[in-house]
Amino acid sequence: MRRNKSYTGIDFARFVFALLIIAIHTSPLASFNETGDFILARVIARTGVPFFFMVSGFFLVTEYTCGNSRLISFIKKTVVIYIVAILIYIPVNIYNGYFSMDNLLPAIIKDIIFDGTLYHLWYLPASITGAAIAWYLVKEQGFKKALIIAAILYITGLFGDSYYGISEKIPVLKNFYIQLFLITDYTRNGIFFAPVFFILGGYIAENKNRLSFGKNLSGFMAGFLLMLTEALILHRFKLQRHDSMYIFLLPCMYFLFKLLLFFKGKRLINIRTLSLVIYIMHPMIIVIIRMCSKFLHIQKIIIENSLVYYSATCISSIIFSISVLALYNRYKPFKEKHNTEKDRAYIEINLDNLLYNVKALQKILPEKCKLMAVVKAEAYGHGSFGISTHLARMGVEAFATATIDEAIRLRGYGIKGEILVLGYTDIRRAYELKKYNIIQTITDLNYAEALNRQGIHVKAHIKIDTGMHRLGIGADNTEAVKKAFNMENIEMCGMYTHLCCADSLEAEDILYTRKQINSFYGLADTLEKGGIKVPKLHIQSSYGMLNYPGLDADYARAGIALYGVLSSPEDKTVTTLGLKPVLCLKSKVILVRELKKGENAGYGRAFTAERDCRIAIVPAGYADGIPRSLSCGRGSVLIKGRLAPVAGRVCMDQMAIDITDIEGVNTGDIVTIIGTENSGTGAAEVASCSGSISNELLSRMGTRLPVVFS
Ligand SMILES: *Cc1c(COP(=O)(O)O)cnc(C)c1O
Repeated sequence: MRRNKSYTGIDFARFVFALLIIAIHTSPLASFNETGDFILARVIARTGVPFFFMVSGFFLVTEYTCGNSRLISFIKKTVVIYIVAILIYIPVNIYNGYFSMDNLLPAIIKDIIFDGTLYHLWYLPASITGAAIAWYLVKEQGFKKALIIAAILYITGLFGDSYYGISEKIPVLKNFYIQLFLITDYTRNGIFFAPVFFILGGYIAENKNRLSFGKNLSGFMAGFLLMLTEALILHRFKLQRHDSMYIFLLPCMYFLFKLLLFFKGKRLINIRTLSLVIYIMHPMIIVIIRMCSKFLHIQKIIIENSLVYYSATCISSIIFSISVLALYNRYKPFKEKHNTEKDRAYIEINLDNLLYNVKALQKILPEKCKLMAVVKAEAYGHGSFGISTHLARMGVEAFATATIDEAIRLRGYGIKGEILVLGYTDIRRAYELKKYNIIQTITDLNYAEALNRQGIHVKAHIKIDTGMHRLGIGADNTEAVKKAFNMENIEMCGMYTHLCCADSLEAEDILYTRKQINSFYGLADTLEKGGIKVPKLHIQSSYGMLNYPGLDADYARAGIALYGVLSSPEDKTVTTLGLKPVLCLKSKVILVRELKKGENAGYGRAFTAERDCRIAIVPAGYADGIPRSLSCGRGSVLIKGRLAPVAGRVCMDQMAIDITDIEGVNTGDIVTIIGTENSGTGAAEVASCSGSISNELLSRMGTRLPVVFS
C-alpha cells in the first residue's frame, strides 16, 4: 500500500535481471546446445525487461493521484537517460553505417520514438510511452478496465511477435502488421508491450489480493512452465517473428514479482544504479571485448566459447559499472538528506491506526451495512487526499463530503466509489453533480422541486428530519416525501436521517433517539405500503454506531470515530472499540530562553515568571489550528514525555511553553501538540481545554501544515 518500504528482493532482482539481459545479446549456451540457448536467452532472459517495467509501474501507477507530477518527473528522468545513451552510442552507430541509411530523417524519428537508435535502447522510449499510457489508463478507467485495454494491446503485439507465423496466414492480419511494421520494427514497444507490465506493477502495489508465499510460488512455477512449453512449441513450428512476447509471460511475471516482495530489508540503492548502468552500457562492453580480442588475437578463447564470452561480458560490465558508480558517488553534488516537511509544524498521519479503525467499525456493522467515510473539511483536518485515497485502498467504497467542491476534488484524486454531498448545493450546479456522478442530499421539498426543474438527471439521497430540525423533510410529512420520490429528473437512491443526541447516554436522550429511529423506519414502512420502492437507508454517524450498533441500515456515516477519537474526553459509549487516533500535530523547539523571576513573555505580557524559569519557543500557532483559548496554561504540550503548559498567549505562528520543570530540553526536541488520548494531548482533551470538541479542533487544523505519513 505504501511504497516507501525497502524492497530488498526487488533491488537484488534488478541485478540478476540485468545479467539475464546480457544473455539475450551474447547467447551464452550457443556453442553447446541450440535448445538450451533458446531456453536461456530467448525465454528465461525475456523476463528481464518486463520486470523493469513492472518495477517502474509499482512505484508510479496508481488510481489515486493528486496531479501528474510523478509521471512527469519519471518521464523527465528517463528522457535524460535516453539522450545520454543516444549520445554515448553515436560512435557505434557511425561504425555500423547507421547514418548512411536511406530516408535517414524518418528512420531516425521512428527509432527515437519506437525502436531505439541501437537495439537495446528501445527500452527507454518504451518506458516513456508505456508509463504514460498505463498512467492515464489507470487514472481514467481504474485498474480493471486499464488491465483489459492493456491486455488487448498486448495480444495485438503478440500476433506481431511470437505468434506472427499465424497472422501471416491470415491476409487481413498480415496486411495490418505489414503496415504497422512500416512505423515500428517490432510490436514489443511502448504501446503494445510495456503498458500491461506497468499496470501490473501498479496493481500489485495496491495490494488488492494477498496470497501466501507458497501460492505465489506455485503460481510462478506453473506460469513459467507454461511459458516454456508455449515458447518451445512456437519455436518448433517456426512461428516466431520475434521472441519477446508470450501469453504466459504475464502470469509468470505477476507471481514472480509478488514473490520478490516477500523479501524486505535493507535498501540497496547502489544496486539500482548499477543495474541501470549495466543495462545501458553492456552493448558497448560487447563491442570493446570484440575489438580487443581481435586486436590481441584471442578470439578463439574469448568469443568462440559462448559461455566464456558471456562471462567476460558480465564481469567487464560489472567492473565498469561499479567504477562508474564509485566515481559518481565520489563526485556527485553533496546533498544531505533532509525532510523539509518536518521543519516547522506538521500533521503526522498513522495509516495503521486508520486501517484499525476501519476494520473495528466494520466489525460492529451488520453484514450488509457499508461504511460511508465522512471526509468533509479536509477529512477533519487530516488531509482529504491522503485519507480518502488510502481509505479507498482499504476497501471503503462510499464517501461523504459537506460540499460539491470537496466531492469533485475526490474524483480528481481518483476516488471511484459513491460520493454523497451532505450539505446544500446550488441547483445551478446540477450539471456538475451529473458530470462527476455525485449524489446530492435533498434538503427539503422546495429544493427537490427546484433541482428537478433544472432538467438534468441527478442522483440523490433524501434527508428526513426526525427531530434534529436542521435539514430534511419532516418524517410525518409523507406526502412531501412521496412527491420528492416522484420527480422525473431525480433518481432517489437513498434516504437518511441524522440523530442529534446519540452521543448521550442520559435516559431522556436515549428515548429521544429511539423515537427518531422509529419514526424513520415508520416512514420507510409507510412509503413501502404506498408502493414506493424504499432505497438505501442510513441513520448513524459515529456515536450512532457506537451507541446504537446493529441498526438495520445500508450505510453508516463514520466521521470522528474513523479518525480514532471521541468528541469529548468524558464521553462514554455503549461499545468501546479501542479506536486509535490517526493524527498527531507535532512541532519542535526552536529556541530555549531563561527568564528571571518577574520577567514577562509574549503579547500583553501575559506570562510573568513567578520564579527563575525556562521557556521554549515552538513555531506553531493559531493559524495552524492551535486554539488561542489554550493560552496561559489552559493547554499543555508533550515534550520528553512530560506535559509543559502554554506560557502566555498563543500567537498566530508560534507559542511559548514553560519547561522549567523538565530537564534537558534542547533546540530541535519534538513537541507533540495533539497526540494520543489520555496523554493530556489527546484531541478530545486538548479540545476540552479550549472549551470545544475534537471535531472542531481537528477540522480547523491550518491548511499550511504539511501532512506526513508514518
Ligand atoms: C458530519 C456528519 C456526519 C459525521 O459525523 P461524526 O459524528 O463525525 O461521525 C454524519 N452525518 C452527517 C449528516 C454529517 O453532517
